Amino acid sequence: MRNENEKYCFSCGTTMDSRAVICPKCGVPQPDINRNTSVNTRWLAVFLLALIVGVFGAHRFYTGRIGSGILMLITIGGLGIWYLIDLIMIVTGNFTDAYGRPIKPSETR
Ligand SMILES: [Zn+2]
Repeated sequence: MRNENEKYCFSCGTTMDSRAVICPKCGVPQPDINRNTSVNTRWLAVFLLALIVGVFGAHRFYTGRIGSGILMLITIGGLGIWYLIDLIMIVTGNFTDAYGRPIKPSETR
């Protein structure tokens, strides 16, 4: 694990402050880490499913959580309450799939 406040120059490998824009050693401009985070397309799919047809548990079927998906379908998203909770969980990146893996809005490399 590398220090959260440090990053490596992609040109010479020197350790520098994560906020540094230009390498202090070789002077090569560094790519912005924040701009390099890509939107997790899987999360986007889950979010859109939840937003549009979430009351029917679509996002749960998609992530393999069939059992609770059926339950959600029958109860119409727990009369909307369960639907709202799930939506918040997804937006905040706390929603997990059938294997307990969290589905985050963005993927950091
Ligand atoms: Zn450098």
